[in-house]
Amino acid sequence: TLFNELGLHDKIIKAVDDMGFVKASPIQEQVIPFAMEGMDIIGQAQTGTGKTAAFGIPLLSKIEEGSTELQSIVLAPTRELAIQVSEEINRLAKYKNINALPVYGGEDIMKQIRGLKKRPQIVVATPGRFMDHMRRKTIKLDSIHTVILDEADEMLSMGFIEDIETILEEVPNERQTLLFSATMPPRIKNISQKFMQDPKHIAV
Ligand code: AMP
Repeated sequence: TLFNELGLHDKIIKAVDDMGFVKASPIQEQVIPFAMEGMDIIGQAQTGTGKTAAFGIPLLSKIEEGSTELQSIVLAPTRELAIQVSEEINRLAKYKNINALPVYGGEDIMKQIRGLKKRPQIVVATPGRFMDHMRRKTIKLDSIHTVILDEADEMLSMGFIEDIETILEEVPNERQTLLFSATMPPRIKNISQKFMQDPKHIAV
C-alpha cells in the first residue's frame, strides 16, 4: 500500500514523502486504518518494522493543531527511545502546528518543566519521570485522549509496570490506547485486558 492510498491528510503525506517513505510497511498497513477509526490496538512488532510511524501517523491525524492542551502521551522504556520517538513524531508533524516533547529520567527536571510550559500536545516519556511530573502537577492529564505504550515488554523488564498501571488509572477513561510489544508476557496481556477496550490484535 502506498501512503497516498491510506486516506491521510495532505500535510502528513507531504511529511512522509520528505522522509523518503513511499510504501507503508506491513505493521503500518495494518495498524493505520484501524487506529484512524479510533480502535484500541495491540501491535506485536519488533523494533525496525516502522512501528513508530504506525502509531505516529494516526496520532497526528487526531491531534488538534495549535492546541495548548496535552492530548497524548507515549510511554517508552528508555531515554534513547523517548528521544527517537519524539524526533520521528516531530518529523511527521513538520507541516502541522503540533509538537512532541521527550521527557525522561536523568535529565534536569527544571529544563523539562520549561519545555512543558511551551505546551506540547504530545509528551514522549519514560514512566518513572512521567509519574514524577504527574505528582508535581507539571503535567495535566484531563485532555489526554490517546495513550501509546511503546515496547511494553521492555518497560515490564525494566520494572515500570506499576508506574504504567498507575498512569493508566489516572488518565481519562474516554481514550484510545495503543500497545506495542515484541512479546506478550502475562503481565502485558493483563494490562491490555484491564485497560484497553476490545483491542484489535495485529502481529507482523
Ligand atoms: P521503527 O521500527 O519505527 O523504529 O522504524 C525503523 C526505521 O524505518 C526508522 O528509521 C523509520 O524512519 C524507517 N521507516 C519507517 N517506516 C518506513 C517506511 N514506510 N518506508 C521506509 N522507511 C520507513
